[in-house]
Amino acid sequence: METILVLAHTEADGSLARSARETLAAAQSLQAALAATTLSVGLVGADVQAAADRVAACGATRFFGVAGAAFAQSRYATDALAAEALCREAAATLILAPGTSRWCRALPGVAHRIGGRVDTHAAGLSAADGAVSIVRWYYRQRMEATMARTQRPWVVLIDPGSVAPWDGPAGAASLQMIDVEPPPAALRTAVTGFLAPAADAQTIRPDADLLFVAGAGWTKVQADGKTHAAEAADLILTFLRKTQASLGGSKSLVDLSGEGQAVLSFMTHLNQVGQTGATPRHPKGLATCCHGEEPHAVGWRFISERRAVNLDPNCGWARGKADVLYVADAFAVMAKVNALLAERASA
Ligand SMILES: Cc1cc2nc3c(=O)[nH]c(=O)nc-3n(C[C@H](O)[C@H](O)[C@H](O)COP(=O)(O)OP(=O)(O)OC[C@H]3O[C@@H](n4cnc5c(N)ncnc54)[C@H](O)[C@@H]3O)c2cc1C
Repeated sequence: METILVLAHTEADGSLARSARETLAAAQSLQAALAATTLSVGLVGADVQAAADRVAACGATRFFGVAGAAFAQSRYATDALAAEALCREAAATLILAPGTSRWCRALPGVAHRIGGRVDTHAAGLSAADGAVSIVRWYYRQRMEATMARTQRPWVVLIDPGSVAPWDGPAGAASLQMIDVEPPPAALRTAVTGFLAPAADAQTIRPDADLLFVAGAGWTKVQADGKTHAAEAADLILTFLRKTQASLGGSKSLVDLSGEGQAVLSFMTHLNQVGQTGATPRHPKGLATCCHGEEPHAVGWRFISERRAVNLDPNCGWARGKADVLYVADAFAVMAKVNALLAERASA
């Protein structure tokens, strides 16, 4: 028997992020697979009633909250105090939380305080014969491990994007508030603001349905014997603006940008997908002017539907890495796609 606690913090506007609802869905499946298991929700934030109401119908028997101005911001000292109080109040044996940067920082310390253990980057949970296990990927997502622990409490941080989010109707949750008074020493650190690129310069969108990946081909000499970097940038940015897709890049392309060559100024190393880059999770991915070599394709591990545009019918995508390969000029394809998107928008 487990006592499951889903720990979530609210966003700046008091809402619950998708990753919190994903964790809730994982907890629900676990509860359904285990006998005599209870599910509680613990919320932290400036005001947590709206978040509790959003998930009122999730099947949790108890809703706990730690709220107040001190808990509005992401700060280890106060987050750890709040989470510890929630774990103790719920007498939780299994604490599931979304692997947000805020929880990744605070919850390992909380696990230590409550005499438990913590595992990060869980990509799935399952239960068989009353025993809970988690799935975790290793070696740049090439090897999958299934792990279990006997130690309780067990804190598990679930990678955002691994599970479909819970999406039931809102309701009215009966919240049990826990009074946590942070000592002055816990309030020494203050978040004074956020530095983030302007909204249209922000090209990495983890929640987007589509990952659009650009390769070095966009900067190569084309059939007319010239390069067309400005045209490439315009085609790619127009497509991103119209679709709000997330932007990825191959290592070759981001390296070119990093070396200060006149290529795609908006492409940084943060966009790189692959063995030495990111492993994004999007339902669909479209690779353009990118060869699809193994170290690159490793980063596509969790992209469900893969398509690619390449002039070379013998490229890596053609060798089993993509579901669909369009052997075509990406400049022509993307110009046509952008025109169709514009037509659709004006219709
Ligand atoms: C240890 C190690 C780790 C690595 N990690 C990564 C990683 O994390 N991520 C990564 O991306 N790479 C990684 N690499 C590098 C990887 O092996 C490739 O070198 C790189 O991905 C190639 O990038 P590319 O496909 O953009 O460029 P290229 O190999 O230069 O391919 C360009 C492609 O564009 C096509 N093309 C050109 N013009 C057009 C056009 N008009 N229309 C359509 N297609 C066109 C060409 O046919 C060609 O296939 C790693 C390598 C090593 C050794």
